[in-house]
Amino acid sequence: MPRRPMMAGNWKMNKTVAEAQEYTAGLLPRAADAEEVDVAVFAPFTCLHEVARMSEGSAVIAGAQNFYYEDSGAFTGEVSAPMLLDLGARAVIVGHSERRELFGETDEMVARKARRAVQAGLLPVVCVGETKEERDSSPDGMWEKVSGQVGRVIEDLEDAGGEDLIFAYEPIWAIGTGETATPDDAQDAIGKIRDLLRESRGEGFAEGVRILYGGSVKPGNAAEIMAQRDVDGALVGGASLEVESFVELIEAAQNSVSRQD
Ligand code: PEP
Repeated sequence: MPRRPMMAGNWKMNKTVAEAQEYTAGLLPRAADAEEVDVAVFAPFTCLHEVARMSEGSAVIAGAQNFYYEDSGAFTGEVSAPMLLDLGARAVIVGHSERRELFGETDEMVARKARRAVQAGLLPVVCVGETKEERDSSPDGMWEKVSGQVGRVIEDLEDAGGEDLIFAYEPIWAIGTGETATPDDAQDAIGKIRDLLRESRGEGFAEGVRILYGGSVKPGNAAEIMAQRDVDGALVGGASLEVESFVELIEAAQNSVSRQD
């Protein structure tokens, strides 16, 4: 079974409820045209319920950008998996580099979150990636970092199937910088991630896992990135904030499927 591409927008800390409503109303009819692509919107907690409510029964998957792995209790400021499900979320970003770098999330925490999301029935989009310094630090500094991050996550997911999770390879030096990895760099890293999944969990698992690329994806470079063999879509920050540019990205994903047919 070919993997279904995903085009995922990460709004980060942007949009009021009114702005989210306007965006979602504009996106829904356009996303419906992309029949062979999963379209996901990762909204802030404050407008997630509205995005989920408006998207119910549509092609758009509403997701959160983070959560905590305990279900309830004395964790001031945190939001749990059951709370996200209650809002109508179906997916959640786990271990975005901004969470790791600015809020101290460790590989251990990311692994626990990915495990809890899968158990709860939320689709985790687990982010991995290296800094520029790590990439340049040794002949394969990228892989030293990324293999450790991926390995730690799948260690805790022994009961999961490949379709239960998504990885997003996001080189940190390419996020929000305008600097994109070349399509070959994206394929190289993502191909290696799939090889690692194959070695540790077998062919069926590795072929089921969708692996996205993220880092300054925009309408001008999406088609080339989507054309790479192992790239199953993109996680997009800046270019997902306007409906028009996000729709162009969705169309690039849809065209990548049509080209394979
Ligand atoms: C992201 O937020 O995951 C991201 C890749 O951002 P941008 O597309 O703005 O680089």
